[in-house]
Amino acid sequence: MKFGGTSVADIDRIRNVALHVKREVDAGHEVAVVVSAMAGTTNKLIEWCREAAALHDAREYDAVVASGEQVTAGLLTIVLEGLGINARSWQGWQVPILTDNAHGAARIIEINGAELVRRFKERKEVAVVAGFQGLHKETGRLTTLGRGGSDTSAVAIAAAIRADRCDIYTDVDGVYTTDPRVVPRARRLDKVAFEEMLELASLGAKVLQVRSVELGMVHNVRIFVRSSFDRPQDIDPHDSPPGTLICDEGEIMEQQTVTGIAFSRDEAQISVREVLDKPGVAAAIFGPLAEANINVDMIVQNVSADGKTTDLTFTVPAADYQRSLDVVAKARSAIGYARLDGATDVAKISVIGIGMRSHAGVAAKAFSALAERSINIRAITTSEIKFSLLIDAAFTELAVRTLHSLYGLDKAAP
Ligand code: ASP
Ligand code: MG
Repeated sequence: MKFGGTSVADIDRIRNVALHVKREVDAGHEVAVVVSAMAGTTNKLIEWCREAAALHDAREYDAVVASGEQVTAGLLTIVLEGLGINARSWQGWQVPILTDNAHGAARIIEINGAELVRRFKERKEVAVVAGFQGLHKETGRLTTLGRGGSDTSAVAIAAAIRADRCDIYTDVDGVYTTDPRVVPRARRLDKVAFEEMLELASLGAKVLQVRSVELGMVHNVRIFVRSSFDRPQDIDPHDSPPGTLICDEGEIMEQQTVTGIAFSRDEAQISVREVLDKPGVAAAIFGPLAEANINVDMIVQNVSADGKTTDLTFTVPAADYQRSLDVVAKARSAIGYARLDGATDVAKISVIGIGMRSHAGVAAKAFSALAERSINIRAITTSEIKFSLLIDAAFTELAVRTLHSLYGLDKAAP
């Protein structure tokens, strides 16, 4: 059971969380708990680090920001004990959750869950593990897993103790076909395949840290996203509660062609005009961008008509727009191009579904539907289970709504 920041935002909410845990224990389930820092705490801690020194040692950043989770793990354990539940808090280093030494964005290498399991079996002791934290064994230093990292802690712990399921209790009651704030008729999905969730999460559905989904996929940990605001006393632990199960695609019976639609307005487009159509040009453009740590997403290059020059368009995060232009301009003599132009008022719409593998014409339908609404498509990329379209940002909502209805994702009108 993992509880995010808003679910443990104050002592009242921590009491509510404790009742969720008690309910499961009383029902005879063996549980371990992972907690985030109280809402806003991590932001505050990061702010303090910056205030202390704009450029600070990443090891000490970790020492500071890891403290948020330490507090919640202790508090929840105190409340659980008050409810008569045997419980003990665990810091990342105590478990230990071993990571690499990429301070601030560490990756989990290994967790030995045997002790947590033994204690539960022997004396029903519930482990309350501080999320987000790890230990770099060689240096003995604390590490943290990057923003949103306690999702990843939870899935990793679930894998380590061979849990049947990893329940992520959060402030939404599941994963939706698209953002319900944009499309009020978005539906909660009962099940999503790992691969689809990976796309949805990478493309901006902020329910889960992307790495937690990767980890779930690799270790086949079923992840269940559910609301922590449901009253614990209203839930029958033997019933199937509302939420979204992220699981292997084999577990999903009726597969729709399209599962969800993600979108992002944080995109920028750059077009390199009249580059020579010869080997090495793409390398001359994307090499320097990679070196500058700029994440290039869509890449579209035309086949030149005259065999000499062509245009090459790609997208980068909007925040990296100016820097990308500078990088390409600096490499101009190596690349050889006539003009550089771009736009930041663009949005990327992505349509996702593993059903696309076995259905033809899924994207073609979208092209006609958008054309009917006079929405121009600037660039297109496709993969096995998704296609993405770059459009003018002004049409984002219209495009998302149009596609959402087109693929039958709207929930029935009440
Ligand atoms: N407290 C950390 C953060 O705010 C980790 C987490 O909540 O998942 O990013
Ligand atoms: Mg989170």
